[in-house]
Amino acid sequence: MRKSDIMCPNCHAGYRRVELASSKGTRGEFRCLFCDQLLEVFDGGTEVAIRLTVQPEKTFQ
Ligand SMILES: [Zn+2]
Repeated sequence: MRKSDIMCPNCHAGYRRVELASSKGTRGEFRCLFCDQLLEVFDGGTEVAIRLTVQPEKTFQ
């Protein structure tokens, strides 16, 4: 299991990314929950889970 932290370059929301190399995932993409910035594209080779850890300083409405 590989853990890393990623930050949205647009609104600075923080995310914890956990990759499970032993599991197959699904193809797709992850976008920032707040500003819709594309943060990662999944190729389905591994299972990746991303959770919000830091709220952005500004709120988008
Ligand atoms: Zn963002």
